[in-house]
Amino acid sequence: MKICVIGTGYVGLVAGAGFADMGNDVVCCDVDAQKIDGLKRGVMPIYEPGLDKLVTLNVTEGRLTFTTDVPHGVAGAEVILLAVGTPPGPDGSADLSFILKAAEQVGAALTGWSVVVTKSTVPVGTGDKIEAIIKKVAKHEFAVTSNPEFLKEGDAVADFMKPDRVVVGTDDKRAVETLRALYAPFTRTTDRMLVMDRRSAELTKYAANSMLATRISFMNDLANLCELLGADIELVRRGMGSDARIGPKFLFAGPGFGGSCFPKDLRAAISTGREVGYKLEVLDAVVAVNERQKQRLGEKIITHFGGDLSGKRIAVWGLAFKPGTDDIREAPALVLIDRLLTAGAIVSASDPVAIEAVRKQLGDRIKYDESHYECAQGADALALLTEWNEFRRPSFERLKSIMRHPVLFDGRNVWNPAELRAAGFTYYGIGRGKDV
Ligand code: NAD
Repeated sequence: MKICVIGTGYVGLVAGAGFADMGNDVVCCDVDAQKIDGLKRGVMPIYEPGLDKLVTLNVTEGRLTFTTDVPHGVAGAEVILLAVGTPPGPDGSADLSFILKAAEQVGAALTGWSVVVTKSTVPVGTGDKIEAIIKKVAKHEFAVTSNPEFLKEGDAVADFMKPDRVVVGTDDKRAVETLRALYAPFTRTTDRMLVMDRRSAELTKYAANSMLATRISFMNDLANLCELLGADIELVRRGMGSDARIGPKFLFAGPGFGGSCFPKDLRAAISTGREVGYKLEVLDAVVAVNERQKQRLGEKIITHFGGDLSGKRIAVWGLAFKPGTDDIREAPALVLIDRLLTAGAIVSASDPVAIEAVRKQLGDRIKYDESHYECAQGADALALLTEWNEFRRPSFERLKSIMRHPVLFDGRNVWNPAELRAAGFTYYGIGRGKDV
């Protein structure tokens, strides 16, 4: 099958490479000429485990190509995926300018019947808008289908290759059959395609992200209560997560959720409700708890140092919004660093893959260290923000010998408070009983 992907970012590149790997002929398009040039030369625009290998293999075998020329990509394609960004606008609603522009370009370039698939996360009713725009310019029949993407960054290739479910929103039989054929190799063991109307499919994506974010904010709220009551959120988490009705996933307290999806999708869902006169009160609370939580670690650090960080050296381990990615969009580490700098601290930071992305944003306002031990050298405190494997079990003996003061702020609750306190550290976690 010939497939065209519009937007070669986290979703578009993974989907393009994944479909090519199943034998399809895929063209990935992007307006970012630098990105496309890089990809043509084998330079990956993002860090995602396993993606470089998948891309290289399929490029070498001639199934995956890159272009900035949309009409070239669309020509002859039976399936056209829209995977461009839908960032938040000033009022929180999704900015649809990129996807509507892409739809118009695709519509004008159609060379025969195609199914236009919306992979981007879009508010309910966007499929109708895309359809209307294409209808105005297209010379051929087409079907606009919602097919939201559920992959998670850091594990995107694995998620794409083995999806829990494939949601397809359309009432067009030919589109369903085309997508069934496209996804069959990914769902061989059991048929996991859920066909529904387009609006329900669009809403399903927001519902899933909203539920995941709700679990996180719920645990963060409880964690703060734990600190006042002298209870340990880690024990509470295990106790509640072992109930089969609840399940153990997405119950970790931490520095608040970030990334390119949860914050923006929640705001967009709230905005969608507002547009039709409905207040999504649970989601309002989820966002409010998260905003507060992102300030929490900074407040703890400032309080520890008596309200003034002037001249204090704070080391930050982890910049990406989660392990396995170089994505720093809405990362809690950036909120913390900003707070620390405002309070007068000198900040050094380390991350296995996200340093360059942060450097582009913060320049020389902070110091960057490839080695996480160098980052902690001479520090008055160390804060852990992203639980990369290498940060989970460092040599605490070495840390103690190189830090000016052995003070740890464990934003991910990956370290053992009793062990560290016994080793002479001052330890702060998230919701792990009363601090100190
Ligand atoms: P991204 O910013 O990484 O990539 C989007 C790409 O689209 C960019 O390279 C941009 O240059 C390109 N683009 C914009 N307008 C274009 C046009 N007219 N023609 C061609 N290319 C164009 O975004 P992303 O993280 O891949 O997210 C894309 C969509 O998928 C969003 O709606 C997002 O909410 C959704 N989504 C993202 C994830 C994720 O983990 N990142 C997961 C599921 C769904």
